[in-house]
Amino acid sequence: MKNYILFVIVLFCFGMQAQQTYLHCGKIVDTKNGRVIENKTLIVSEDKIVAIEDGFVSPSSEEATVIDLKNKTVLPGLIDMHVHLENETSANNYLKPFILNEADVAFNATDYAYRTLLAGFTTVRDLGGSGVNVSLRNAINNGTVTGPRIYTAEKSLATTGGHADPTNGRKRELMGDPGPAEGVVNSVEDARKAVRQRYKNGADWIKITATGGVLSVAKSGKNPQFLEEEIAAIVQTAKDYGMYVAAHAHGDEGMQRAIRAGVKTIEHGTLMSKETMQLMKQYDAYLVPTITAGKYVSEKAKVPNYYPAIIVPKALEIGPKIQNTFGQAYDTGVKIAFGTDAGVFPHGENGKEFGYMVEAGMPAMKALQSATITNAELLQAEDELGQLEVGFLADIVAVNEDPTENINTMENVIFVMKNGVIYKQ
Ligand SMILES: [Zn+2]
Repeated sequence: MKNYILFVIVLFCFGMQAQQTYLHCGKIVDTKNGRVIENKTLIVSEDKIVAIEDGFVSPSSEEATVIDLKNKTVLPGLIDMHVHLENETSANNYLKPFILNEADVAFNATDYAYRTLLAGFTTVRDLGGSGVNVSLRNAINNGTVTGPRIYTAEKSLATTGGHADPTNGRKRELMGDPGPAEGVVNSVEDARKAVRQRYKNGADWIKITATGGVLSVAKSGKNPQFLEEEIAAIVQTAKDYGMYVAAHAHGDEGMQRAIRAGVKTIEHGTLMSKETMQLMKQYDAYLVPTITAGKYVSEKAKVPNYYPAIIVPKALEIGPKIQNTFGQAYDTGVKIAFGTDAGVFPHGENGKEFGYMVEAGMPAMKALQSATITNAELLQAEDELGQLEVGFLADIVAVNEDPTENINTMENVIFVMKNGVIYKQ
């Protein structure tokens, strides 16, 4: 009994006071107000930011940890709206479906997730894999695996022969006839069923491939692949189940159908016309640029046998155009949500996208805001992600230089905290 009382007293004195971390920040990117502020102390307790003090405040308790970031610039954890954590580019990528078991995919994915987190991306939207991404999300959430917070689309939806048809390019006996369960739809009924199946499988978002794409073993990289009524059925059903829809699109016609049908984000947007940019604004759709992926595929297409022959002309045509279209869309006033398509290029290099965005004419601060507050809004997490503010989750990263002066410093994140836990220092 005596021991029990002692235990309660000890618990009361120490257990109630959670371990605190004091971060002395030389500069902080204030993403909400679009400015850089100086000399602040961020105080973190458990998984939240609990106070922000002027100057460098020392903790009164010896229990607290102090992190010296006085010569660094501190930002909210970065958010990438377009990654594929189940896969990574390689010369034998098209063999993988025939030689890797689901467990192999999962183990590889843990490495990709880890590298993504260490690059400063504490939250990602995974826009399609086999479904391992749902298990990965859950394993990260429960602490079994180290990685970013994941919002996942599970398996992308396509039409027969469309960009995300899982059996494109196979010999007939291996093609089969995939349907809504596998994410292939050919009618309004199929569309509804495929969305409901994704919900049942644990998806947070719905992804469709509204036009052809570069890396599928198929002829066109830009043809429209869904009827507008099919996309409308997908958007409506997703809404019923509490989900938004992201649409991969390179060609203009497929992009327009997707926007009019109500998708929330257009991925790549490569051949977007001026008219479509106005449509984006009218429907409040966001462009997710993925410039890094465009540049990477157009480079790799020049390496003999890196991609199957049918892909090479598509990569050379589409890849180099993404950056220019992005610049025009930004100038036109289209909302931009930071996203890279990591997996199409090596995971962990997501930070390159910032430099490409600035090169195309976007101010550095706007690029940083697109990867923080804008993406937090899209994920409906604007009350806990994307800002360094009291009450927000303690997702905090730091870089050596002020990124508004040298944006390329974003490629070298030197400190990473997620949910109050330090992963890189
Ligand atoms: Zn993608």
